[in-house]
Amino acid sequence: MADRPLTLMAVHAHPDDEATGTGGVLARYAAEGIRTVLVTCTDGACGDGPGGVKPGEDGHDPAAVAALRRTELDASCRVLGVDHLELLEYGDSGMMGWAANDAPGSFWGTPVAEGAARLAELLHRYRPDVVVTYDENGFYGHPDHIQAHRITMAALELAPGVASKVYWTTAPHSAMKRFFAAMQEFGTDGDEQAGEAAEGSEPAGPPELPPIGLPDEEVTTWVDTHAFGAQKYDALAAHASQGENIFFLRMGKERFTELMGTETFVRVRDTTGAALPEQDLFAGLR
Ligand SMILES: [Zn+2]
Repeated sequence: MADRPLTLMAVHAHPDDEATGTGGVLARYAAEGIRTVLVTCTDGACGDGPGGVKPGEDGHDPAAVAALRRTELDASCRVLGVDHLELLEYGDSGMMGWAANDAPGSFWGTPVAEGAARLAELLHRYRPDVVVTYDENGFYGHPDHIQAHRITMAALELAPGVASKVYWTTAPHSAMKRFFAAMQEFGTDGDEQAGEAAEGSEPAGPPELPPIGLPDEEVTTWVDTHAFGAQKYDALAAHASQGENIFFLRMGKERFTELMGTETFVRVRDTTGAALPEQDLFAGLR
């Protein structure tokens, strides 16, 4: 195998998704000498603007938001030790049903085959051993997350032999319960309910059965990233222009690490035969 470093590629929808969903594994595997590649599909222009101005409100300048978020993404990548950042630069599609869904250049409006072809080029260039993206519901239904899933799975078909292991991010229901409790404790109500949170998840809950995530026994892969909790927190802090991240930052590093220190996945492809459940995305590869 070793004409190139072991490589992890994470495919995400917006600037800041890399920190929320996979900040722990990006930091951990970088520290272990694994090459890390982040693909961010959209410009995040439907996020919050400077001063917390929301999309659709007066003064929300999508181009300025995209520029700000690009700067934040670079800072987050530095914190997480990401080796290569690749931007597909599609337009942020906003929440399902927004006019932005159909705007020219929107990710949601881009044919899957087109996005997949571009991502397949990156698969061929980096030949990742492990690829991580969202499940078919984009974890919580955001159109750009769903589209990231679709182009990733289609791109993998265009790059046979690349990626011995493929994962979808998920959250076990036990963790979702703790998460909803934290949402109540640290508050996400009113105007601070924004961006990624307003992007789709229901305010404050807590529903008896979380609509997202999986029963614990269906989670295949539990990666301990507690030692990298501070980096994950700092990466999110780099995205502080986005209202939803303030909720996490309010917890402080210790509580945040407690709550977010295990990253969980469903393994959907494996050619290594590594036994399940596993604690390492690279089990069977080193
Ligand atoms: Zn997102």
